[in-house]
Parts: sequence; C-alpha cells; structure tokens
Amino acid sequence: MRTAQRIAELPPYLFAEIDRKKEAKQAQGIDVISLGIGDPDTPTPEHIVDAMAKAIRNPKNHQYPSYYGAKRYRDAASQWMKNRFDVDVDPDTETLAMIGSKEGIAHVFLAFVDPGEYTLVPGCGYPVYHTGGILSGGKTHFMPMNEENKFLADFESTPADVLAKAKMMFLSYPNNPTSAIAPPEYFDKAIAFAKKHDLLIIHDNAYSEIGFDGYKAPSFLERPGAKDVAIELFSCSKAYNMTGWRVAFAVGNATAIKALGTVKSNIDSGVFTAVQDAAIEALLGPQDSVAELNAMYQRRRDIVIDALGKIGIEAATPKGTIYVWAKVPEGYTSAEFATKILEEANVIVAPGNAYGPSGEGYVRISLSTPDDRLEEAIERIKNTL
Ligand SMILES: *Cc1c(COP(=O)(O)O)cnc(C)c1O
Repeated sequence: MRTAQRIAELPPYLFAEIDRKKEAKQAQGIDVISLGIGDPDTPTPEHIVDAMAKAIRNPKNHQYPSYYGAKRYRDAASQWMKNRFDVDVDPDTETLAMIGSKEGIAHVFLAFVDPGEYTLVPGCGYPVYHTGGILSGGKTHFMPMNEENKFLADFESTPADVLAKAKMMFLSYPNNPTSAIAPPEYFDKAIAFAKKHDLLIIHDNAYSEIGFDGYKAPSFLERPGAKDVAIELFSCSKAYNMTGWRVAFAVGNATAIKALGTVKSNIDSGVFTAVQDAAIEALLGPQDSVAELNAMYQRRRDIVIDALGKIGIEAATPKGTIYVWAKVPEGYTSAEFATKILEEANVIVAPGNAYGPSGEGYVRISLSTPDDRLEEAIERIKNTL
C-alpha cells in the first residue's frame, strides 16, 4: 500500500513530541495542565441544548440534510448578520451552511486553487490555511506578521511572481494565535489589493463574538466593496461553546459561495438538520451567554496577563479571542521554551512556530481552562524561571 505524496508533504505535527511527553508523564501519575488547545471548557448554553433535544425528535430531521443548509438555517444566518453587523446577505445566494468553519477552509481550495497556484496565508495562523493548500496541490506564501506591523499580515510585500499565480488570501481578525485585532483601514487596503490582483479573500471570523473591555469585532463585509472579493466564515464553535457540534456558515460573494457549495455537494451531505435547528436557537435566541462567556475569558485574561507581568514575560493584553500571545524569554526558541515548561512545570503551552514562521519567539496560552487551574499553571511556570 502506498499513500499519496501529499500526505508526506504535510508539515510534521508540532504537538506530536509534546503529546508523547505528556502521555509519558500522565502514565507516571503526574498532573499535567494543558493550556495548549483552544476548546471552550464550559458547556453549550442550556437553551441551545434544549432546542437540540426537541429537534432530534422531529423525524423530518432524520433524513439527508440540504447540501447548502436548510432554508430556515440560511435565513437565520442572514438575520444574524443583519442583527449583529447590519450587513445584508442573501440567504439563498450568499449564505452556505458549513460543517464547522474548518470544513469550509479546507474545501475552498478545491473551488479556487489549481495545482501550483498560490494562496497568501498569514505568517502565523490557523494551520489549515496552509495544510489545505498542500492537500489540494497548491502553494503557500506566508505573509509576514510581527510586532512592528501589529500582526497585520503584510500582503503588500508579496513578490510579483507569487502574485501572478495567487488565487486566494486568508485573513482572520480577531486573530488566532496572536489575538491581534484589525482596524477598518486594514480591511479596506486588503479589498483594494484583492481587486487589483484578482484574489478571493476568505476572512475567518471564528472569534467575532469573543471581545473584551467593550470591544466588539466587526464583520469584514461591513467594508465597502467587500462582497465583490470576499467571503467570511462564522462559527458557532467559540461564540456559543459548540465546538463538538460542527456547525458554521459562510457568507459573502455569490460566485465564491456557489463554487464552494458545488465542491461540498460532491463531498459531504451537509450539517445534521437537528444541529442546524439548535444553531438557529444559538443565533437568534437570547445572547446573554455571549456576555457571560466574555466576562469569564476577560477575568482569565487578567489573571494570566497579571501573572506573566510579575514573572517578566512580555505579552500584549488581548481585546479578543481566547488566547494570550506571550514572548519567550531571551535564549529560547518557541519549541525549547514550551518543552522546558512541560518538563519542569508539567504545563503545556503551544509553541508559536506551530502556527507558521512568524510565530517563532512566542508561545500561545489558551484561556479555555478553569480559573484555579490557570492560576496553578502560572504559579508552576513561575517556579521554573
Ligand atoms: C477554532 C477555529 C476554527 C475552527 O472552527 P470550527 O468552526 O470549529 O471548525 C477556525 N478558525 C480559527 C482561527 C479557529 O481558531
């Protein structure tokens, strides 16, 4: 049996070594605290679970779902865009249900990128922006991101030969892993750039609902002309603690939505309709859970920022997402520092270079861990330094 070359081309899984060490420690009965992954630790809000319990008893929901999402789900997504951002999207031609936004990110390559063509990808970002390209025979150009450019991916420095073969550009603010946010002027520049070079922009707005100190993230589609060049991905995962449910949607440019829908209709058969009914409740039901979630993450953010400051680790105070992006102390690479913390403190943090070349020199600390465990983890890190 011979696997395809594309499997061999995937980058080594940077957590593999960490996972091995973690398992070895756990086998010895050592208590390891993981601040590695971003996966909400509190349950899905009760009213959404109740909607699911009701929806699962509806026999109509037991059949194949619509490829593009139930009409009522697309209507709800469109209504949510209006309520939340005052953005108009047509529920029939500009809205598509996704089996989680990861699915959309992976499949959009098949709709737009032919073998050898480029995708412009943030210098550090969600790994599928890069691996989705590898799996479909495309090439990645990493756009530099650093402290000087406020982690706003620098598309303007893209070489001309890359641009000549580029088809898409991923952006994502509030950003995972850096937790940077973007001003409207940055989005406007990206739109002009995409028009000039005939690119599709995919704005991944996975953290649109997670904002602190009153910050409410915008939609990319609020910007003039955005719909000419862009689609935006929204997910119930982080906003409504629904990572396990696999439900999201894409909105924006009708040609892109149609192309993505065509790919999907040849690969999957949509989101379980009962899950779509639960997601309708999430989108259009009471939104108090979002404010509660944000208060919780903001409290945890403050615990971490305060503690890091006391032990001399630099980190910007995030306005959104569920991550703190911390600089590793002098003399360490990301992987070395993450390994040291695991070995000496039994705490897992994500090495920044796992997210792309611009992530070197940082680690990502996830806030999806209960307060007392978070406090203990920081105390343990302190004792190793
Ligand atoms: C969590 C995350 C996703 C995946 O979301 P799903 O809807 O659960 O697939 C996508 N993009 C970013 C940046 C994320 O952090």
